[in-house]
Amino acid sequence: MYYTSTRDSSLRIDSAQAIVKGISDEGGLFVPVEIPSLSMDEIVSYADMTYPERAAAIFSKYLTDFTAAELRYCTESAYNDKAFATASITEISHLFDGTYVLELWHGPTCAFKDMALQILPYLLTTSLKKINVDKKVVILVATSGDTGKAALEGFADVEGTSIMVFYPEDGVSAMQKKQMTTQDGDNVCVCAVKGNFDDCQNGVKAIFTDEDIKAQLAERGMMFSSANSINWGRLAPQIIYYISCYSELVKNGEIKAGEPINITVPTGNFGNILAAYYAKRMGLPVNKLICASNANNVLTDFLTTGVYDRNRTFVTTISPSMDILISSNLERLLYIMTGDDAKIREWFGKLSKEGRYEVDEAVKAQLSADFAAGCCDDERTKATIKEIYDKYSYTLDTHTAVAVAVYEDYRKATGDKTRTVIASTASPYKFGTAVLEALEGKAPEDEFEKVDRINALSGYEIPASLAALRTKKIRFTGAIDRADMKEFVLKEV
Ligand SMILES: *Cc1c(COP(=O)(O)O)cnc(C)c1O
Repeated sequence: MYYTSTRDSSLRIDSAQAIVKGISDEGGLFVPVEIPSLSMDEIVSYADMTYPERAAAIFSKYLTDFTAAELRYCTESAYNDKAFATASITEISHLFDGTYVLELWHGPTCAFKDMALQILPYLLTTSLKKINVDKKVVILVATSGDTGKAALEGFADVEGTSIMVFYPEDGVSAMQKKQMTTQDGDNVCVCAVKGNFDDCQNGVKAIFTDEDIKAQLAERGMMFSSANSINWGRLAPQIIYYISCYSELVKNGEIKAGEPINITVPTGNFGNILAAYYAKRMGLPVNKLICASNANNVLTDFLTTGVYDRNRTFVTTISPSMDILISSNLERLLYIMTGDDAKIREWFGKLSKEGRYEVDEAVKAQLSADFAAGCCDDERTKATIKEIYDKYSYTLDTHTAVAVAVYEDYRKATGDKTRTVIASTASPYKFGTAVLEALEGKAPEDEFEKVDRINALSGYEIPASLAALRTKKIRFTGAIDRADMKEFVLKEV
C-alpha cells in the first residue's frame, strides 16, 4: 500500500514515511492510493477478538510496511486497561429505539482524541526505526482543547520526541486548560496563543512549511512532525472503532450482518467523520454519514450546497472542540472523490486567498449521496442535554449533544429509521459548566465542585485523571501573539 499527496498525485511513499512526515512538502495531506476492502465475514469475525487484535487486523490493510509483530506491539501498548477505564476500550450504550451511543472517551484524557493519540507515539517511533531516521522528532500541535491534552499524554517522556502545544487563550474550557497547563514530562511545552483555533492551526501549518525553520532544526538534528488529524497516523486508528462497533452490534443481535447503519458524528476538523467514510468505503454497510456542527456551521452549508465559505463570524460555543471554520480533513474527502490533485490545488488555493470555493456537480452528487448535515446552537445543545437526561437518565457532553440534536432533526425531516450510531466524543466531566447549566440552570465556580455535582447527577464514576488534577501545580502560564509562534518554537525546542 502506497500513500500519495492530495496536492501531488505523482508522489509515492509508504505509511512509515507518511506518519513521520505528517504533511507533504507542497502542503497536501497524505492519503492511501487505494482504499482496501473488508468482507462482511471479516467484519463479523472481529467480534470475537480483543480491541488490540481488531486494530492490528485493520491496520494490516493500511500499514502494509509494518510487520504483524510491530502492529501487535503498537496496538497492545496503546489499547489496554492501564490507559483506558474499560477493558473493551470503547462502550456502546443503547440510547433510544435503534439509536446507539458509541462512547469513545474512556481513555486517559476523557475525550475521543485518546483513541488515536494513545497509539500515535508507538506508530511514530516504530516508523522512525523502520526508515532509519535518528533525528529527534518535534511534535507541533494546534488544539481547540482536547487534542492538546491527548497528545501531551501520549508523547510525555517518549524517547526521541518532544512536544509543543498551542491553544487559543480564551477558546478552551477551564478543565481543558488545567489539564494542559499541569502536564508532566520533561519533553513537553504548552503555550497559549492570543487568537482562536484557526490562528493556532494556521500558525502551526505555516511553521511546518517554512523552509528556514526546518533547516535550522535539521542543523540541530531535529525534525518536525504533526499530531494533528492531518497526520495519517491520527486518522487510521479512528477507522477501527466504527468497524469494531458494527461487529459488536451484530454479535449482540442489535443488527443483522450486512444491515446498513447511519453514523452521526459531532464534527470539527472533519477527521472523525472522514474515518467513518473510510470505513464505509472499505465495505462497512453505512447508509448516511450525518455531519453535526455547532453554530460554526460552515460544513452544514458545504455539504448541502457544495460551496465552502469561511467568510463568516467565528463563534465561541459551549462545544469548543468543534469551533472551527477550516476543516482540514475535508481536503482528503475531496481528493478521494475526485482523484484530481489539480482541482484540490485550485480549490484550496482559493480557500486560502478568498476564503471560498465551490466544488463541481459530480462532487456535489457524491456528497449528497453519502452525507447529511445539520447544525445547532448553544441553547438547543443545552436543551438536548436536559431532554436526554430527563428521558433516558443519560448524561451527554456538549459535543455529543450537538450530534444528538442534529440526528433528531434528521430523523424528523427524513423519517429514516435506519439504526444509528452516534459517536460520543467526550465525557460530560470535561465540559462541566455547560452540562450543569443545562441540567440545573447554574454551575458552581469551582471546577472540582462541578465534578462532584456531575458525579451526583450522572452517577458516572469520576475519571481518575480528572480527580488527580485537584492537587496538580500549573507549569505553563505563557501567552503569545500568533506572529511570534515561529520565534517561540525556535527558542523552546
Ligand atoms: C476533536 C473533537 C471533535 C471534532 O472531531 P474532528 O475529528 O475534529 O471533526 C468533537 N468532539 C470532541 C469532544 C473533540 O475533542
